[in-house]
Amino acid sequence: MMRLGHLLGGRWVDGEGEGTVLRDPTTGSPIATSSADGVALADAMAWARRVGGSQLRSMTFAQRGELLLSFADKLKEGRQAYYDAVLTNMGANKRDAVFDVDGAIAVLRYYGGLGRDLGDARFLLESEVAQMTRSVDFRVGHLLTSRHGLAIGINAFNFPAWGMFEKVATATLAGMPSLAKPATQTALVAYLMVRDLHEAHLIPEGVLSLLTAGGRELADLVEEEDTLAFTGSADTAAQLRSNRHLIARGARFNAEADSLNAIIALPDVDANSPSLACLIDAIVTEMTIKAGQKCTAIRRVIVPERLLDQVSEALAARLSPLKVGDPRNPQVDMGPLVSRAQQESVIAGAALLAQEGKSLLGGANAVEFVDVDPKVAAVVAPTLIEIGDPSSARLVHELEVFGPCVAVMGYREVADGIELARRGRGSLVATVVSDDSSAFVEAALALGSLHGRLAQLNSRTVGENPGHGVVMPQAVHGGPGRAGGGEELGGLRALRFYLQRTAIQADVSALSSLRAVAGEMR
Ligand code: NAP
Repeated sequence: MMRLGHLLGGRWVDGEGEGTVLRDPTTGSPIATSSADGVALADAMAWARRVGGSQLRSMTFAQRGELLLSFADKLKEGRQAYYDAVLTNMGANKRDAVFDVDGAIAVLRYYGGLGRDLGDARFLLESEVAQMTRSVDFRVGHLLTSRHGLAIGINAFNFPAWGMFEKVATATLAGMPSLAKPATQTALVAYLMVRDLHEAHLIPEGVLSLLTAGGRELADLVEEEDTLAFTGSADTAAQLRSNRHLIARGARFNAEADSLNAIIALPDVDANSPSLACLIDAIVTEMTIKAGQKCTAIRRVIVPERLLDQVSEALAARLSPLKVGDPRNPQVDMGPLVSRAQQESVIAGAALLAQEGKSLLGGANAVEFVDVDPKVAAVVAPTLIEIGDPSSARLVHELEVFGPCVAVMGYREVADGIELARRGRGSLVATVVSDDSSAFVEAALALGSLHGRLAQLNSRTVGENPGHGVVMPQAVHGGPGRAGGGEELGGLRALRFYLQRTAIQADVSALSSLRAVAGEMR
C-alpha cells in the first residue's frame, strides 16, 4: 500500500505509526496511509519562513509568475495519473476530476500570467495618492509588501488539487512561502502533484511544503506575519478562528466554509420560457458533478409557486434515469461520495429535510446501483425534496446536505423569493434566472449583501456563463456569514491577504521614486 509522506524542511519525512487509511469509496479498499505523528512541524515552519520567504521576496513578480507557469506545465504532463488518483481516492470520473485537476492547472496559469504582467517589481503601490493637508508636496500612498511569514492553507476533502493550488498560486505571487494541508482522506492527488514538482526540482527551497495528515497544532504554531487560509466545515472554521494563540498573534485568518446556495427563477420566467430549461440543466449539473460535493453546488431551488410542479417533475424526469455506481463504468453518470461517513451524513441530512416537505426522488426510494456492492460503496441516489411551506421551514435554510440533494420550494411574491434566498444567512453563490436585465439587477441589489457571487442565467447567457458552481480566478470566491466571511481569488485582489498595506506619508518625490519601481495595485 502506498505511504504518503510530508514535504517538510525541504525533504520528504514520515510520521510514526500507521496513521489514517485512505480508501477507494467505490470498493472500500484501502489505497494508502498517512501519519504526521511525531513530525517536527514547528521546525519545518520556521525553516520555510526563513528560507522560502527570502527566496520569494528576492524574486520579481515576473519571476514568481514564471515559477507558477512552470508548475502548471509540469502538472499538465502528469494529468492522467492525477485523474486516476482522483478516481481511486474520491470515486470521481474524468468529467469530475477535471474540475479539480485542470482547475488547479488553470489557476496556476492565470496567476502566472498576472505575475508576468506585473514585471520586475517586488511590491505594489495602490494607484490612489491622496493629499492630506494644504501642502501639495506631502502626500500619502499605500504600499503593499510581502509578509515575512508562512501562508498556511488547510483544505477540504472535495477539492484536494484546486483547493491547494488556488491558495499556493496567490501566496507565491504575493511573495509568501506556503504550507499546504489537504484533507487526509483525499490527500493522494495533492501528494502526487507536489511529489512530481519536487522531483522535477521546480520548487525553490522552502517555497512549498506539504503536510498530508495531522496538522491539529497548526493554529497554535502561527506567528504574527503568518496567514491561515482555511476551507472546510463551519465547525472547524469556528474552532480555528477562535484559537487563542492565533488571536493573540494577530495572524491573518480567512475562512471558506459551507453554504446553502440557491437558484432563483424570477417571475418573468414562464412555463414555456427557454430559460426554465436552463434552470433545470443547471440544477442537474450541480447535483451530479462530484456527486454534489461542491461547496458552490445548488442546494435550494426557489421558483414562482405556479412553476413548482413543473420544475419538480422536470427534475425528477431528468434525474431518475441517471446511473449511479462505479465511475470506471462509462455508462455510469455519477460515482459515490468520498466516504461511507459522508454517505451516512447525506442520507441522514436528506431525511431531515424531507420532514419539512416530501421526498420526490432518492432517499428511501433508492435506485439500483451499477457495478458496486451497496454494502461497501459510498453511493447515494440523486435526491429531490419538495418543501411544503418554505417560509416556516427551518432546516432547509440551515442544514447543508453535502451530496446530490436539492430542495425545491415555491414563492408567491418576488420579495418572498428573495427573502427565502437570504435565509441561507450568507452564501458563496446564487444564480438568478430571468430574461429581464433590470429585474436581475434589482434582485442582485437585494441579494448582494449576503452573497459572494451572483450569476445571471437565461437563454442568452447560458453559453457564456462558466456555470453556477464553477469558481473562476477572475471572480472573488467566498461568502459572508455562514459561508465563512472570507474571500479568495478575484485577480490581484487575492494578493492583499498575503501583503501588508502600509500608509507611506512622504514628499511627492519619495512617492514618485516608489512609484517608479512598484507594481500597481488597482
Ligand atoms: P473539515 O472536516 O472542516 O476539514 C477541513 C480541513 O480541516 C481538513 O484538512 C481537516 O483535516 C482539517 N482540520 C479539521 N480540524 C482541524 C483542526 N482542529 N486544526 C487544523 N485542521 C483541521 O471539512 P471537510 O469535511 O473536509 O469539508 C467539507 C466542508 O467544506 C463542506 O461543508 C463544504 O461546504 C466546505 N467547503 C467549502 C469550500 C469553500 O470554498 N467555501 C470549498 C470546499 C468545501 P483532516 O482531513 O486531517 O481531518
